[in-house]
Amino acid sequence: MLSYRHAFHAGNHADVLKHFVTIQLMQYLNQKDTAYSYIDTHSGAGVYALDGTFASKNAEYDTGIGPLWERTDMPAPIKEYVDLVRAMNPSGKMRYYPGSPYIADQVAREQDRLRLFELHPADSKLLADNFRKLEEHAAQQGIRPATRGKRVLITRGDGFQALKSLLPPPSRRALVLIDPPYEDKQDYKKVKDTLAEALVRFPTGTYAVWYPLLQRMESRQFADKLKQLQCNDWLNVVLTTNTPMPDGFGLHSSGMFILNPPYTLEPMLKEAMPYLVKVLGKDSGARFTLESGKPMATRNNAVRR
Ligand code: SAM
Repeated sequence: MLSYRHAFHAGNHADVLKHFVTIQLMQYLNQKDTAYSYIDTHSGAGVYALDGTFASKNAEYDTGIGPLWERTDMPAPIKEYVDLVRAMNPSGKMRYYPGSPYIADQVAREQDRLRLFELHPADSKLLADNFRKLEEHAAQQGIRPATRGKRVLITRGDGFQALKSLLPPPSRRALVLIDPPYEDKQDYKKVKDTLAEALVRFPTGTYAVWYPLLQRMESRQFADKLKQLQCNDWLNVVLTTNTPMPDGFGLHSSGMFILNPPYTLEPMLKEAMPYLVKVLGKDSGARFTLESGKPMATRNNAVRR
């Protein structure tokens, strides 16, 4: 079932949470010179036109990047994310929104490796086309012309299946982003099973999973299932922008579950999340939750706002 197209959702509040956290995870890896792999199991198209027919249909960016666009009072990690989006819109008008592969390309260094998987035929072609344009642009600017082909590999295929073949990465350093559509409820189980296998092959990697909070049981139980995985420790951050509609329509809440997070992530989120609640919150239901722990933990911390 491949009906999902991320272009309809580009730049919404879920993308804001996912993308600003991803940037922070990569910036932590950037602190050491040693190369790392960024593996995106569900890449999407890489770049989205916000004035295109898909993105403008429901204008979901109005719940996310839209309200942040003109702000001048952002905490540093949110500003870093918004500045990256602004940089791809040099006219100052919010026209393009970056997907996770574009963000990773901007934040990763010359020596790092991007391994991008996308199953949808149209989106995998768009992803390849978008990276070809980036490569042409880079070549014109004299940036990375020789290494780019090795640096970024795009594969049309099943990211769940492919992940194991890349682990452990040569440098023993990696960030894996797992961001499936979850329209098929099997995705919840596939994420957990894929992570369990990945952690056996590469126990010290950092794994980031985006997930929606929906009415369905698989969604409500998902974070608790991930907490059982055999990692060193985990962190779970959830952003809720509004009280759920009685009909259950619309995405009001989503989370990022990180296995083996850097120690810097939790204090950063404690500072940044209240700002997102303030700017993206729609009603008194807006809040964030942040919890961290260890599998089979004796110690669990929870902060609720
Ligand atoms: N990570 C992207 C971002 O942040 O910009 C968005 C990804 S979108 C939520 C999920 C993508 O996964 C869709 O483009 C969909 O076509 C793709 N997809 C679905 N099943 C897949 C699979 N088994 N392997 C790889 N891609 C898949």
